[in-house]
Amino acid sequence: MSNNILVVAEHDNAALYAGTLNTVTAAAAIAKASGSEVHILLAGDGIEKIAESCAAVAGVAKVLLADDACYAHPSSEDLAKLIDAQRENYGYILAPASTFGKALIPYAAALCDMQSISDISEVVSADTFVRPIYAGNALATVKSADAIKFITVRTTAFELANDNNDGGKAVIDKIKAADTSAQVKFIEQTLSSSERPELTSARVVVSGGRGMQSGDNFAMLEKLADQLGGAVGASRAAVDAGFVPNDYQVGQTGKVVAPDLYLAVGISGAIQHLAGMKDSKCIVAINNDPEAPIFQVADYSWCEDLFVAVPALQKELGE
Ligand code: FAD
Repeated sequence: MSNNILVVAEHDNAALYAGTLNTVTAAAAIAKASGSEVHILLAGDGIEKIAESCAAVAGVAKVLLADDACYAHPSSEDLAKLIDAQRENYGYILAPASTFGKALIPYAAALCDMQSISDISEVVSADTFVRPIYAGNALATVKSADAIKFITVRTTAFELANDNNDGGKAVIDKIKAADTSAQVKFIEQTLSSSERPELTSARVVVSGGRGMQSGDNFAMLEKLADQLGGAVGASRAAVDAGFVPNDYQVGQTGKVVAPDLYLAVGISGAIQHLAGMKDSKCIVAINNDPEAPIFQVADYSWCEDLFVAVPALQKELGE
């Protein structure tokens, strides 16, 4: 069995998602430690252009391309079977720790009777990885003796891999589709459309909490996010109260973000929220409670009523 590394690409049949590039960087660190190659598995429908982008990613030696109508909207079950068909050639299977990877990797690992290792944030050696536990309050160093290591990667912990600047290109190998499951059928996908950047890759995130008091008041944060070219996020309390949809949620059970600027407005700073944003490069908190725990992690603390602070900030930033 080879020790090579297979990164499963996440995409929407139109473009490669950035998390795949962070995952390639994690794979490259394993490749350096284990003396192996990084390959990308790309399954979809009409995806030749994406295959070319994958082939141009620095550090990638080969792209396995399964371009077939049966992968237009693949289920984790179907992709796991495709991975299973390739398992003899790999010592590692990696995917981003997004909804996509979190669903796929445990399923694929179970098919091979192996343990999955979730959300790694550091590669220590070829068989040893660091991963956050207890909502990010502790880091566990885990060692795996499995012949194939199935791993999801905390994308915010690794830089994006670049396009090759040495002019080199990875080989693209077309592979056959594996059996597809008759038990799971794609019916429809409902996506919220937004002009704003995607939450997990935005450079600026403006998040609101229960302190916003209503969904209507989030319009203030949307305006602020637009002024800063950022995305809008929320605490779970704001989502549970129905102020905003649940794909806005940042935290342990929401999305993990690490933007250049995270603006927390009317958010207390519960550990479950911090788990999703405390790696942000600069944290600004607006809260009218001087004892709010968010101030302990904030780089800039603004103790003020948010209904005063946010309009003042908007005015300062100008239209
Ligand atoms: P609150 O804690 O109620 O805080 C509101 C803040 O707004 C207060 O600090 C208050 O001082 C301030 N405020 C009020 N009015 C104003 C004003 N006018 N001006 C300025 N400030 C004002 N939470 C998450 O966010 N993400 C998760 O993924 C998540 N996962 C969880 C998983 C589990 C298993 C559990 C048990 C909990 C989870 N939670 C999560 C919930 C978490 O524990 C908190 O309940 C939640 O984060 C609180 O949200 P909040 O800060 O908006 O609300």
